[in-house]
This record gives sequence, C-alpha cells and structure tokens, in this order.
Amino acid sequence: MNSPHRIISHFDLDSFFVSVEVLNDPSLKGKPVIVGGSERGVVAACSYEARKFGIHSAMPSAKAKQLCPHAIFIKGHYADYSKYSRWVTQIIASKAPLFEKASIDEFYLDLTGMDKFFKPLQWTIDLRKLIIEETKLPISFGLASNKMMAKMATNQAKPNGFLQIPFGKEKDFLAPLPVADIPGVGEQTNLILRAMGIEKIRQIEEAGPEIMENKFGKWGIDLWHKSQGIHLREVTPYHEAKSISSENTFEENKTDNSFLKKELVRLTEKICFELRQDGKVAGCVAVKIRYPDFETTSRQTTISYTNADDAIIPVVKDLFQKLYKKDRAVRLLGVKLSELTNDAVQTNLFDDIERKLDLYKAIDEVKNRFGKSFVKRASSG
Ligand SMILES: [Mg+2]
Repeated sequence: MNSPHRIISHFDLDSFFVSVEVLNDPSLKGKPVIVGGSERGVVAACSYEARKFGIHSAMPSAKAKQLCPHAIFIKGHYADYSKYSRWVTQIIASKAPLFEKASIDEFYLDLTGMDKFFKPLQWTIDLRKLIIEETKLPISFGLASNKMMAKMATNQAKPNGFLQIPFGKEKDFLAPLPVADIPGVGEQTNLILRAMGIEKIRQIEEAGPEIMENKFGKWGIDLWHKSQGIHLREVTPYHEAKSISSENTFEENKTDNSFLKKELVRLTEKICFELRQDGKVAGCVAVKIRYPDFETTSRQTTISYTNADDAIIPVVKDLFQKLYKKDRAVRLLGVKLSELTNDAVQTNLFDDIERKLDLYKAIDEVKNRFGKSFVKRASSG
C-alpha cells in the first residue's frame, strides 16, 4: 500500500540571536544573555542560562531584569542575524531540493521520495553537521511525517539535538504531552482547555470533535486533528514565496523630483504596512521605473530582514537615485519587497492564534476607521 505521509524535517537554530552574539563575543558563553529590550520593550531572545530564571521571549524586559538582575542585556545586531540567516539558507539550498524558510532561523525541508535513494535520517544528520561545521551555530532538527510533527520533534530535541518521530508513532508521541506543546496553542487556548479539564494532548482527542468545535469553532476542529498528529500544510518552496509590491501609473508623466521621492515613500509605507500585518519581514527591495516610451528598468538589493519603513525607505531612495535617468519624465513608479519570511520576534510575541487574530482585527478596524493613510508620515521629499 502506498503511504500518503510525507517526510518532513524541521530545522531551528537554537536561541539564534544569542548564539550569534556569543560567536561575536565568546566571553558571553554560558552566561544569562538577553537580546532585545529598548526597541520593543520585550525580550527578543534569551540564552538557555537566562531561561533557568524563568525568562522567555516576548516577556517585558523590565520583568526579565527583575528575575535576573545580573543578566547581560544586548540591543541586538540585526545585520549580523540576517547575514547568518542567509548563510544557513544557502547551505540548506545547496543540499535540499525543496525547502521553506519559515522565519529567519527556521526551515522546513520536504524529503518525500528521497528514501528511495538514501536514508532521510542520516541525510538530515549530515546536513546538520555541515551547518554546524560551517557556521559554528547550534541547530536542532526534527524529522516526522508532517510539518507540525517535525516542529514538535525539534522542540523536544532542543537545545542542540535531533529527534525522529517514526510514521505511525505520532499519537504515542503526542498523548502524554501538555496541550501547550501544540504549535499555535497559547495562553488563551490553554486556559479554556484547562477549564474543560483538558491538560494533556490525549484528552483533546478523547473530548471529540463536537465538544471541541462547540468551544472553539473551526480552531477546535483544527486542534482535534492536531491532537492526533494530523496536519496537512505543505512546505512552501522558498523561491516561490510571494513578494509584496505596489506601483502607480501616473495620469500625467512626472518629472518633479520631490514628487517622485514622495511617491516612493508613500508606496514603501504602504507595502511595509502590509508586510507587518502579515507578520513578515523582507530581505530584498526593488524599485521599478517606467518612462513614457515604455522603457522599463528595475534594480534590487538585499537588505537586513526587516519590516520597518525607516530601514527600507532610505534603500528605496538610494535605488531610485542609481536607476533614474536624470530629468526624464516618469510614467510609472513601483516598489517591491521579496525574500519574505515570518518575523521571528513577532511570531514569538503572538504565538497564540486568537490573540494574533484579535490583533489583526484591531489593526484592520483602525485602518478602516482612519483609512490606510493613518500610517503616513511627513516626507522630507
Ligand atoms: Mg530558533
């Protein structure tokens, strides 16, 4: 019989930001280190030594300081994180036929069909070894029959380890684990389940689909499937990942330089806003110009992964400056962001699905009330 299951491995760099900081400054090794703080007011990443004090990502920095006054706080070097993220991506891309970059430190590889040629577990062990040898970064992986199971295997294997869940053993693996171990189950879901007397994943399955749906709607059915290790989401190939772009064809051709710059700012703000709403960051920016004779040129550059207007606008202006043929009239301007991946920090912050949906709803409400232009800023032109 043909088994319909897939072979998925999930790679996750261990406390990625902190690991990069330790590479840059080995004296940090073995110490409670916390990245983040001033910018977002929360812990973006922390070392395993810091976790022993009860510190975790997304915790307010002030609270982290209370729990561990001697912790070392670092603002973070996001350009370095991007550099290492790209390095690991390149190594994986050189070996894996099909992979998804789920965030800057997380990857899913679809190895289905590979077992005809070699053993997926050994292949994955070798790939992990290669990543560690080349980059010196600690990384863990899980190997299982779908994305969710692979991610949960990784979480069990951390730090610096690996775990395979053989096909058919999903339920055995899941049954004794706490419900909060299911990706997407955050505080809010956990509380409701607890009130229902459900603490272990096994009990979700036992509750049955009707009870789960009554309590949570569609998410309840989803959870009931997840409790049995059923998860059908496919690995999205990295290079087919969507880009976000915005362009404007002018009614009249434009030559006014300050108008063109303002327009660039407006287009960039619009797509950065979308990017943040999707919880994504971009690693590549492109600018497109079309002249009245339909000659069209574009130019792109890689950037540190970000979704901040302030970081992207200067890059867009610079690209435009290099591309634009002076004093020519412009018919169309466009800005595009690609190399999209999930924002790791935001993913940590909004691990709870309902909270995330609530947040997006709140953003949308604001947007509808004030129009998209509420994010507009005064442009220096
Ligand atoms: Mg990680």
